[in-house]
Amino acid sequence: MKLRKILAAVLASLMLPALCAAETAVTSFYPIYLFALNLTEGIEGLEVYNLAPPGTGCLHDYQLTTGDLKALTEAQVFLINGGGMESYLAHVEEALPQLPIVDASQGIALLPSASGETPFNAHVWLDAGNACVMVNNLAEGLKEAFPQHAEALEANRADYLSRLEQLDETLRDGLKDVPRRDIVTFHEAFPYFAEAYGLRVAAVVALEPDDALSPRQLSDLIDTVTALGNPPLFTEPQYQTMAAEAVAGATGAKIYELDPCVTGPETEIPRDYYEQVMLRNLQVLQNALKE
Ligand SMILES: [Zn+2]
Repeated sequence: MKLRKILAAVLASLMLPALCAAETAVTSFYPIYLFALNLTEGIEGLEVYNLAPPGTGCLHDYQLTTGDLKALTEAQVFLINGGGMESYLAHVEEALPQLPIVDASQGIALLPSASGETPFNAHVWLDAGNACVMVNNLAEGLKEAFPQHAEALEANRADYLSRLEQLDETLRDGLKDVPRRDIVTFHEAFPYFAEAYGLRVAAVVALEPDDALSPRQLSDLIDTVTALGNPPLFTEPQYQTMAAEAVAGATGAKIYELDPCVTGPETEIPRDYYEQVMLRNLQVLQNALKE
């Protein structure tokens, strides 16, 4: 169905009583949702609605649904990750030119993407310092959209920022003395984390879930891992592990799991879920890089 037709259907459905609260901020995916929940905590009447269900993972190939467009039509503001993560953004801008869009990664120096499909790597939220910048950008956008809640938003921002700054320090301290620095990952999610906390992504493979490794890529990767002295291999809970297992089988390198925090509980979400995930990642890395 053409976008215009979808939009017409959405607008027609709006003749029905609205399902959303009168004040709604829509987020594009899970990390932004977590940040926005913290910023709007305890603010009566201000709802946050997340588009991509938590099982989606990264948004790389995400297509907007009719329900998504309906939610955006009813929202006062759309909070996005930016950096190219929301590949559908131009459609939203075209369909809803009045809707304010807040780009959380504004001001963050983007790293190039290794995939070549997009110019930049959009996984900025995995550096807790970047998370602080994102929370600041989101807070500004929310205050502009909901000036009546400026004071409460400001208080929540201050509280959340102090927790995130603490997290950033804990990650930095926790990784400053690990004897190994090389990691091999199977999704392009951790370069910002590595840059912030002094690790080196020695190889990134199978950038997104649909990408399979060719036999040639696999044998090149095995050579690389062997030449690096079998650095730990990191898979992610949202992605297949076959390539990692093949490399581990051929080289003896060990497999660990890092969570890019793109999925999580759908209801009763702990407000510190992002912090919990990042601290678990810290423990995994300390263990994997200790010798
Ligand atoms: Zn991704």
